[in-house]
Amino acid sequence: MTINEVIKKGIYELKENNIDEPTLKLRMLVSSVLNKPKEFIMAHGEYVLDNSQEKDVMEKIEKIKENIPIQYIINNQEFMKLNFYIDENVLIPRSDTEILVEEIINTYENKRVKILDLCTGSGCIAISLKKYIPNAEVYASDVSKSALEVAKINAKRNDTEIKFVISNLFNDIINKNFDIIVSNPPYIKTKIIDTLSKEVQKEPKIALDGGIDGLFFYRKIIKEGYEYLAHGGMIFLEIGYDQKQELIDIIKEDKRYKFIESKKDLGDNDRIIVIRKE
Ligand code: GLN
Repeated sequence: MTINEVIKKGIYELKENNIDEPTLKLRMLVSSVLNKPKEFIMAHGEYVLDNSQEKDVMEKIEKIKENIPIQYIINNQEFMKLNFYIDENVLIPRSDTEILVEEIINTYENKRVKILDLCTGSGCIAISLKKYIPNAEVYASDVSKSALEVAKINAKRNDTEIKFVISNLFNDIINKNFDIIVSNPPYIKTKIIDTLSKEVQKEPKIALDGGIDGLFFYRKIIKEGYEYLAHGGMIFLEIGYDQKQELIDIIKEDKRYKFIESKKDLGDNDRIIVIRKE
């Protein structure tokens, strides 16, 4: 079959199974199986797949039908123009999170800063920070050993030097004096998780579940992080679209920090907050 035929057949099957964004997923899939850029797939519809490529595509279409996210099937996701190896052990990097990373890059470009990324998952935040702020010294931690293995693969793939620590938040972090603590921690309320899309539910629960009110990790990072920050050090956090006010309340109550700013994502939702140790 040609690229066009395979994609057409795939779109039909995915639509039958009520799968969202069938065209996008098919293009990503065929591009991955043929190991060619998406532009090639779009421009060369008449290109003929060999038997093993065709079989591979068909098997992977079956996985898409089971609501497995395409990124877990092709083991890849782009983030900050870099390529990341992705599997079921880690949350899939989101473009919303790029806002968080860009804010840090814009503030600290060329600076010699010491950064700690908590709940690193795939390592997308830590690795892209190191890539775009080469003078930074970047530490990254996660409680999940299997997530940290994925992050290590990604550090190697992107040729970046990251200091990885397996740790439940600050428990095993011995370094201090960080200029920046950054995190996109789990922030979904436990009881909401069952109502999320079937695809999101294939992502690790441990990466989604922020406790009863979704704020468990923020409270701990803000409370314990103080001791790990240099004077004037900053905390950059990704937050849920409806969590800004609650975060501001936590910071007010704490009294040791100053609220600096919040930023919205492309969907116009509050997405990050920045606070400073006073
Ligand atoms: N820090 C990782 C990311 O932004 C993982 C986040 C998480 O698992 N909650 O993708």
